[in-house]
Amino acid sequence: MQPASWAEALAMKADNPEALPIAGGTDVMVEINFDRARPAAIIDLTRIADLTEWGTEGGLLRIGAGVTYTRLIDELGDRLPGLAMASRTVGSPQIRNRGTVGGNLGSASPAGDAHPPLLASNALVELASTSGSRRVPAREFYIGPKRNAMRKDELIAAFLVEPAKGPQQFSKVGTRNAMVIAVCSLAIALDAERHRVGIGIGSAAPTPVRAGEAETFMEAVLDEGGLWERPAALAPSALARFGELVAAAARPIDDVRGTAAYRLHALAVLARRSFSWAWDEYRRAASA
Ligand SMILES: Cc1cc2nc3c(=O)[nH]c(=O)nc-3n(C[C@H](O)[C@H](O)[C@H](O)COP(=O)(O)OP(=O)(O)OC[C@H]3O[C@@H](n4cnc5c(N)ncnc54)[C@H](O)[C@@H]3O)c2cc1C
Repeated sequence: MQPASWAEALAMKADNPEALPIAGGTDVMVEINFDRARPAAIIDLTRIADLTEWGTEGGLLRIGAGVTYTRLIDELGDRLPGLAMASRTVGSPQIRNRGTVGGNLGSASPAGDAHPPLLASNALVELASTSGSRRVPAREFYIGPKRNAMRKDELIAAFLVEPAKGPQQFSKVGTRNAMVIAVCSLAIALDAERHRVGIGIGSAAPTPVRAGEAETFMEAVLDEGGLWERPAALAPSALARFGELVAAAARPIDDVRGTAAYRLHALAVLARRSFSWAWDEYRRAASA
């Protein structure tokens, strides 16, 4: 099915709840080529202009589900640096030219690279059907391994996220430097206005997850030390504890890409390093 408008796409999905949407096809076509899926019907979303648009809504950016990684990097990298860093690690130029965040959300793989930055910056996922639309916080969107909160009659319209209010980072461990599925990954978003720390973890639990205790711990370190106002170097012991708490938020498994023990170790290292990079950036900006 090839709907030409969003309304038509929603009507087709309502009439054919089993039909599989396709955007960039970089997940769907792999499933079909390996004969892991034989969808009876496919809804091609690539002709729907609405899905490829982005704009502002209140203080938020609303980004159509069909915006590719390449466009996110080029057009929104200054406002969403964490998501842009993650997007740069996705596949190859060809995959980034086709692949979309909407497709990453649709697949909801625990290893999807868009998820940690969306979690860290409290993004919302906008789902739509013929009966209306709803916005689900990213932290409630991932409900199990490769399962998300989308109902069968719904499509992903967009995601909404605040432009960065402070430094952001994304780090990913893989078995090589490009074209690699994350062994584990981590995103950090500092909100210097609200004094908040957001952490998203990928590929280390049945779903992408936040690291709530690590966030609260680091917020207290920064607040109690008056560090947002007078940014100083962080005590190594605080960074070490932060790393432990990030690792404690994960529930990794042993699989072909890595062991659970390695993932826990790597997450603690990623957490310490990425936080140091983000904090150094904050300090540099404060002293400029
Ligand atoms: C060689 C290669 C390398 C890759 N490397 C990476 C990587 O490094 N990191 C990473 O995260 N991923 C990677 N991927 C996976 C893939 O590129 C991403 O998951 C990408 O974001 C999928 O987007 P898409 O638009 O191609 O989705 P599609 O394949 O079109 O769709 C994916 C899923 O989302 C659903 N869907 C798509 N759009 C919508 C919508 N608007 N509403 C509802 N459902 C929708 C589809 O039905 C399907 O279930 C790689 C894939 C390949 C083939």
